[in-house]
Amino acid sequence: MKVPKKTMSLCPRCKKHTEFTISIYKKGKKRTLAEGQRRYERKKRGYGSQPKEVFRKNAKVNKKTTPLLTCSECGYKKYGRPQKVKKYEIITN
Ligand SMILES: [Zn+2]
Repeated sequence: MKVPKKTMSLCPRCKKHTEFTISIYKKGKKRTLAEGQRRYERKKRGYGSQPKEVFRKNAKVNKKTTPLLTCSECGYKKYGRPQKVKKYEIITN
């Protein structure tokens, strides 16, 4: 799927339509001290197997990609509509 680099969209902070630049949202780094992560580490300790299965056999090609839109005037960030596509391309022109 091909997506333009810049698009017009409503900015809730500017309260008008402004130009937004599109980039792809990426997951942040895992926090090792977050409660869920600590619980997971605790559960993995000692005897017994992996508490949650580790997914290995991925037969699907399509990945869900979330665009991240940034307002060119105030820098407000918002998420676009996630798409399940094989290839997510941002076109610059
Ligand atoms: Zn704005």
